[in-house]
Amino acid sequence: FLINTEALSTDKAVIHGQDAKHICKVLRLKPKDTISMTNGHGTDFTGSIDKISPECVEISILSEKKSLTESNLDLTLCTAMLKHNKMDEIIKQITQLGVTRWIPFYCKRSIPLSGPNREKKHIERWQTIARESLKQCRRSCLVEIMPPMDFEQVLSFSKSCSHRFAFWEASDRPFGGPAPGENNKAVVLIGPEGGFEEEEVRSAVESGFISYSLGPRILRAETAAVCACGLIQYLLGD
Ligand code: SAM
Repeated sequence: FLINTEALSTDKAVIHGQDAKHICKVLRLKPKDTISMTNGHGTDFTGSIDKISPECVEISILSEKKSLTESNLDLTLCTAMLKHNKMDEIIKQITQLGVTRWIPFYCKRSIPLSGPNREKKHIERWQTIARESLKQCRRSCLVEIMPPMDFEQVLSFSKSCSHRFAFWEASDRPFGGPAPGENNKAVVLIGPEGGFEEEEVRSAVESGFISYSLGPRILRAETAAVCACGLIQYLLGD
């Protein structure tokens, strides 16, 4: 379970809301049962339940340890804004693949977000999905979801990463694994449903990205994102 660090005193934690209901009604845990928790920032806890109701679970912390499920690779995935259900799918999958942060971005052919307060509402929705996915795969760090950027901001953000991969279906360079870099930070660019414009790929390459192909078939953007992150995690992370 994900616990809010503010709700954590030195040796006590409190879980409210849907999670409390789930622990009480579905898992049917009882006082003195053991429970595993994380703060979403890389620390895991084991606790013993003191008091339990569907509204609130009070826990004594028994032990604390650094996460064993996080990768040593700092991996940023940047995906062009896609249709909403695809963005939801991406956040679920990349949480499982150990991605550190996710940057949705606008480019020439991306799909604009719709509705009032759209960025705030979408970010909140993605954060909820990320929290659920974290629990499912037992990660200890939430994917950091950055507010949508424009393409130039993404290129400038990426400058701090040694490994910069731009996936482009028209590239003649098969993805064969990264060269050694100065730091263990990687960034991946995936384009929109309509693909990147050639000029966008050129400016990514000018700012230090290498453009790679993921093979002869055109993958859906969300498939390409998952495939690229899986390959890079395998090659550079764990
Ligand atoms: N029209 C489909 C869709 O609706 O998803 C395909 C979109 S594909 C153009 C979207 C992005 O996935 C591309 O901009 C690229 O980043 C990546 N991609 C897809 N297939 C690829 C391939 N074979 N090699 C490299 N990148 C690929």
